[in-house]
Amino acid sequence: MSKLLPSAEGSLLLVGGKLVPGGAGVFATMNPASGEVLGQAANGDAGDMDAAIAAARSAFDDTGWSRDHAFRAACLRQLRDALRDNIEELRELTIAEVGAPRMLTSGPQLEGPIGDLGYFADLAENYTWETDLGVASPMGIKSGRTLRREAVGVVGAITPWNFPHQINFAKLGPALAAGATVVLKPAPDTPWCAALIGKVIAEQTDIPAGVVNIVTSADHALGAQLAGDPRVDMVSFTGSTATGKAVMATAATTLKKVFLELGGKSAFIVLDDADIAAASSYAGFSVCVHAGQGCALTTRLLVPRASYDDAVAAAAKAMAGIKPGDPAEGGTVCGPLISERQRDRVERYLEIAQAEGGTIVTGGGRPDRPGWFVEPTLISGLSNTATAAQEEIFGPVLVVIPHDGDDDAVRLANESPYGLSGAVWGTDPERIDHVVRGVRTGTLGVNGGIWYAADAPFGGYKQSGIGRELGVAGFEEYTETKLVATAE
Ligand code: NAD
Repeated sequence: MSKLLPSAEGSLLLVGGKLVPGGAGVFATMNPASGEVLGQAANGDAGDMDAAIAAARSAFDDTGWSRDHAFRAACLRQLRDALRDNIEELRELTIAEVGAPRMLTSGPQLEGPIGDLGYFADLAENYTWETDLGVASPMGIKSGRTLRREAVGVVGAITPWNFPHQINFAKLGPALAAGATVVLKPAPDTPWCAALIGKVIAEQTDIPAGVVNIVTSADHALGAQLAGDPRVDMVSFTGSTATGKAVMATAATTLKKVFLELGGKSAFIVLDDADIAAASSYAGFSVCVHAGQGCALTTRLLVPRASYDDAVAAAAKAMAGIKPGDPAEGGTVCGPLISERQRDRVERYLEIAQAEGGTIVTGGGRPDRPGWFVEPTLISGLSNTATAAQEEIFGPVLVVIPHDGDDDAVRLANESPYGLSGAVWGTDPERIDHVVRGVRTGTLGVNGGIWYAADAPFGGYKQSGIGRELGVAGFEEYTETKLVATAE
């Protein structure tokens, strides 16, 4: 029997420990693979957000949550285990709402981030909360100094739809481990993914009332309300760079701490001593994963000019072999785009690419099926300054650009407002190291290396963000330091 599936009346909000309907009624959540309504979600209004912030504030100020490290670790493990108890139901609902290929739900779309809660539970228990800095005599006064770490307070977490569990848990895990309390406002496109977590928290864990609040809504303004509220100490945002700038401006009115994970236009650099065909095939394949809806996917393939045609042919062959399909099927790599709006946006970029002189080598069309699909598309003939090479498309679209040697490849990789991720393929370790040092991004994979893990900080340079998610650095984002000096 279903424990999580929302009733016909819709999923609920989690506010102050209670599962409640939304003040603005309900809104539809869609199945992007069919284009049909999946069900109804609670439509939170400004009053719900206000109540959620008040509950988080009171749970932080009036309870021992932030000081009881062992209890928080136990709660995080309990949440992880409860989610695992419901994993098959969560898997089906995630596939249906996100359009996430089934194969990804055993990794970053579901089971990976749930398992990562254990990493943060361990951190809560084992972290060095106090460091003795020893005695110093500034201004002649002998003082024993202790550096303490404390929770940042109330966190407003605002998240997108592409990897909802990964991103929601990459905020909830470290924030709760650090002793913060949270108001989570998920994207309107994936309300159930968040609401079902709220239901598990309320019904199957000892996480105290108000420590986690989840307000789903069709209204983006609730995100702005959360970012601007003076009772919120920190806003932790993942989403587009444009919205990130708006969040930062809103947060500035109350000068709160801002943590931003934003967009990317990452480069896949192939050096001339690499296996050009193997590297280009890999690049073609990887941009199709989850229909290209990954902020860190490599969407610009930079190849030696002399090998350009070979690289295009190899990448095109790989992409033509990937048929967009039903995400519920085990073999599907490339599912649907999240919404009709996103599908139309991707198609607009394909038109712009052609108008600017690009050639669609493979793909470009809509598969003949319901839902919001786009064929994996390879574009050649564009320079790095073309719109499709500069702007985040968020679809299964790869642009191939020639480079004139290692330094030119670095220059092109960095010729972008973004600095999120990237890849380097080659055989000479010294040349690879030279390129790795030159590229200004927060993560890099070499010859297919995977950087994503609970203990590995992830984030961007430049307009890809401020701060790091996951790892000790990601945990410390949710803390403040307090230096206590005692005269001796
Ligand atoms: P988005 O920026 O449109 O929305 C993200 C969230 O912000 C949603 O919850 C939305 O309701 C909320 N929001 C919208 N306007 C707001 C405002 N003015 N104030 C506060 N909140 C507001 O992003 P999206 O379309 O949901 O997601 C796709 C984007 O997310 C892509 O740009 C992608 O690169 C980025 N992303 C980044 C990372 C990363 O870690 N760097 C990870 C995943 C996605």
